Amino acid sequence: MNYKITAHPDGGLQVYVACESCSFVILPTADIERATRAMCSHTAARGHAVFKRTTNDIAVVVLADKAERERRAEANRLEYHHLGGAAEDEAEHAQAGA
Ligand SMILES: [Zn+2]
Repeated sequence: MNYKITAHPDGGLQVYVACESCSFVILPTADIERATRAMCSHTAARGHAVFKRTTNDIAVVVLADKAERERRAEANRLEYHHLGGAAEDEAEHAQAGA
């Protein structure tokens, strides 16, 4: 089976920055622009221009074959209904609406 790795839609890119010349760090943040401005400010204030920058995201492994992915999604949906999942959902909705 062929798989591929993609960025998880709920996991944004984060950056972590550490100055190579002192203990200045920017803790992991999704605000890349703000981190960039903080690096520029640090360089302006201290003259330190080299940073170790680490970016990370949330990766997810999915089936590379679209047809196989859809076949499995359908199989899961049918099994969910077979096990009574849909009936439970309707009962919960009915309670929530009452
Ligand atoms: Zn520094």
